[in-house]
Amino acid sequence: MNLPRTLGGLRKSNFSEQRLSTRKVKDEIRENLMAKIRSGEVIFPGIVGYDDTVVPQLINAVLSRHNFILLGLRGQAKSRILRALTSLLDPQLPYVAGCEIHDNPYTPICKRCHDLIANNKDETPIAYLTPNDRYVEKLATPDVTIADLIGDVDPIKAARGGHDLSSEMTVHYGLLPRANRGIFAINELPDLAGKIQVGLFNIMQEGDVQIKGYPLRLPLDVALVFSANPEDYTARGKIVTPLKDRIGSEIRTHYPATLEEGIEITEQESWARRDGLDLHVPRYIREVVERIAFLAREDKKIDKRSGVSQRLPISVLENVISNAERRALRNDEKTVAPRISDVYAALPSITGKLELEYEGEMRGGDAVARELIRMSVAKTYDVYFKDLNMQQVVQWFDLGGEIRLADTAGARDILEGLKNIQGLTEKLAPLGIKPKEKTEVLVSAAEFVLEGLHAHRRIGRSEERVFAADKQAKRVEKPFEQEEQPLRNRRPYN
Ligand SMILES: [Zn+2]
Repeated sequence: MNLPRTLGGLRKSNFSEQRLSTRKVKDEIRENLMAKIRSGEVIFPGIVGYDDTVVPQLINAVLSRHNFILLGLRGQAKSRILRALTSLLDPQLPYVAGCEIHDNPYTPICKRCHDLIANNKDETPIAYLTPNDRYVEKLATPDVTIADLIGDVDPIKAARGGHDLSSEMTVHYGLLPRANRGIFAINELPDLAGKIQVGLFNIMQEGDVQIKGYPLRLPLDVALVFSANPEDYTARGKIVTPLKDRIGSEIRTHYPATLEEGIEITEQESWARRDGLDLHVPRYIREVVERIAFLAREDKKIDKRSGVSQRLPISVLENVISNAERRALRNDEKTVAPRISDVYAALPSITGKLELEYEGEMRGGDAVARELIRMSVAKTYDVYFKDLNMQQVVQWFDLGGEIRLADTAGARDILEGLKNIQGLTEKLAPLGIKPKEKTEVLVSAAEFVLEGLHAHRRIGRSEERVFAADKQAKRVEKPFEQEEQPLRNRRPYN
């Protein structure tokens, strides 16, 4: 595309004065959004599970030309949504070349550009911004100052340019003026000090900022968007009331409503397509991983206010695949098929993401995480095997059978042992396992059954991963259905 490089060229182009001089950034994103709705295009591709909740509210906020805030817990794609707003900006936006605040060539607000245009007229050089250039993001912390956000005197600039300190030419612009004609996103808004919030209120109220010690006003054109944790945001005194009052829309995000949506997000966000190895992640592994997050969000031992981020299942899945990769490399296997033992090996990607309540702290992060995995395995096992009689398999262990399934052991080594467990490999049909299945996949499925039985306390498993009869339980004669009851009573899932 041949973009005009001077003000004179710009006037005669599509970027005419008539079209551009009064068009604010909120008008621009509104117009582009309207065009997308008309054409039936997907508005925010890659944002899963919000089609009927967050997205319509977001669209309404943009159509209303509101500054808005997203309220939600950690890992609910808030930053992602804010960044996706750049897809509503024009592909190219002309500005006065060299201007730190990206002045509109027809209505410049800084002295430098006023002077430049007065001297060069139609020869004034023009440059262009891409949507990414026009997105500024700031994580609010209590130490953010007015200087960071709005600007300050720059004595070095003054000395170099031979300017008086009171001259506008000595201003060092902060983040907000630098976001002029773009989108400015502030994450965790309540962490901003009160007087900074007042500064923001000014720009929303008057549409301009004042830089300390300077007489100038800058009528900035910025779309302000925020994110916050709902508990912080609604807490009294965290947000100054006039600022809250100026935020047009308050949109609540949420965790995926269904396991299916969670799996879809995790699949999309995790680094799971890796070079070199034939990766086969069984469906039940995805379900177990996702269910850990769902169970954790309901668990009383885990702090509800900080939530359980979607990053948990994403990191767990990545670690699960890596542990399976490590096994495949060590044993010279071509197929990487994760097992339940790989989920237990992924503990380091769980513990750091759980904020524990007092009871959880007493038990310890590792114990809480292990219990979550075990519950998740039990629930997932029931999805496939609830109505299947596994008595034959349990009996093999009750009669003294033992087998060690180390997470590092190669599939071929283990398979022979697994075949000794009468009835086991015939029970794998609900997992979609065919008779001629790859060894790695077959072993993973058989191990899942044993882990499921262990999760329901029908068979035991030692620290060294030796499966054997559960000597404490002595539940051999009880039918499966009854055995499940105590587990349910102790820990309701919903
Ligand atoms: Zn300028």
